[in-house]
Amino acid sequence: MGKLNKYANIPLDRDYFKKKDNPNWKKEKRLTDCCQQDVDHEVLNVNKEYEWEIIEEYVQKHLTEYSSTESITVVACETCGRLLEYKSVLVQNKKNWR
Ligand SMILES: [Zn+2]
Repeated sequence: MGKLNKYANIPLDRDYFKKKDNPNWKKEKRLTDCCQQDVDHEVLNVNKEYEWEIIEEYVQKHLTEYSSTESITVVACETCGRLLEYKSVLVQNKKNWR
């Protein structure tokens, strides 16, 4: 069995072609291996006690301000703990069909 081209089955973007044209071309932004985040971009980390408190405050504030939000999931990289996004669940519209 031959070796599959490593570029098969993955999205090819502009960077791919820049690199193809110039093998020495380097992406300016370096990304973390685990979650593909810009290493130079400072983000909150769920594993740092103080930063988790900031995240908690944000979530609490949001829940206080938006009664339509039932819960918020703090999505973080499982490897490095970088905060990736907040996923909120809205309160189900409870309608009575009588
Ligand atoms: Zn990560």
